[in-house]
Amino acid sequence: ATPISVMVSVGKAAQTGILIRQGDALQTAGKLTCLVLDKTGTVTQGKPKVVSIEGAGGFSETEVLQLASSLEAGSEHPLAAAVLTAAREHAVQPKKMAQFKAITGHGVEATQDGRRVVFGNRALLEKEGIDLASHQDNLARLSAEGKTPMLLAVDRQFAGIVAVADPIKPDSAAAVQRLRNLGIRVLMVTGDNPITARAIAREAGIAEVRAQVLPQDKAAVVRELQAQGETVGMVGDGINDAPALAQADVGLAIGTGTDVAIESADVVILQGSLMKVPEVIRLSQLTVANIK
Ligand code: ADP
Ligand code: MG
Repeated sequence: ATPISVMVSVGKAAQTGILIRQGDALQTAGKLTCLVLDKTGTVTQGKPKVVSIEGAGGFSETEVLQLASSLEAGSEHPLAAAVLTAAREHAVQPKKMAQFKAITGHGVEATQDGRRVVFGNRALLEKEGIDLASHQDNLARLSAEGKTPMLLAVDRQFAGIVAVADPIKPDSAAAVQRLRNLGIRVLMVTGDNPITARAIAREAGIAEVRAQVLPQDKAAVVRELQAQGETVGMVGDGINDAPALAQADVGLAIGTGTDVAIESADVVILQGSLMKVPEVIRLSQLTVANIK
């Protein structure tokens, strides 16, 4: 039987926008030693915006935006939405593409008028055989500012950069501080590049970062921490996070999370504030103290 104090706490939590889907979570949350936070939509606002466009190799900014948005019309990634919004704002019409393919954790590719067009992260362009050494400083500068550079290639030639910014939520840093005050080890995990990831983590006061983690490998990060003896909470919002949420001792879905993430979560935080995470932990500790 569920102890009365658990039921009371579940009710209290619901009043503040925290849905406890799994009664056990309320008994485990207070014992968490480690929290893994997804970057996009968890630490950050999750609404990336295009902040700069650069053409290269004879391609104008408009051509870069047109090709990028034509590719992203086929993608459901939050970065795709940012590119499509920028195209609309600049009255750029996406073109029809053929042979579209999304490459998880990397980007998108397709052909257009017989040209091969690729748009995504550095690893994706390097796989095309493109040497980005001469663009290293520019890419590092954008990333150090916490921006995510997405690179365009046409017929295996570098053609430009679209950079997006996704600022941290106003209370992410305060929430991380509170978690650390509770003695909890906090890590951020992301598919994004290590320089951008570290810049965002620094703003949020997070010391440990795992970057360039493919969506399917986020659960392995949780498992690895558990193998180190940690009791691990995972906070995420995206469809990509579902396996990691399920693997964690307590999975917390945040904000306007997708149905899939919510299905795999023990706790759902409705308003998207990371501040609710230390609240869940405190509530759990008080509840367990009441049972004893
Ligand atoms: P996140 O952890 O932010 O959800 P993902 O694992 O989905 O990141 O993607 C990792 C990286 O791959 C992104 O930061 C981006 O550089 C690139 N990428 C992924 N999908 C796309 C896309 N549709 N368009 C452009 N770049 C993409
Ligand atoms: Mg994601």
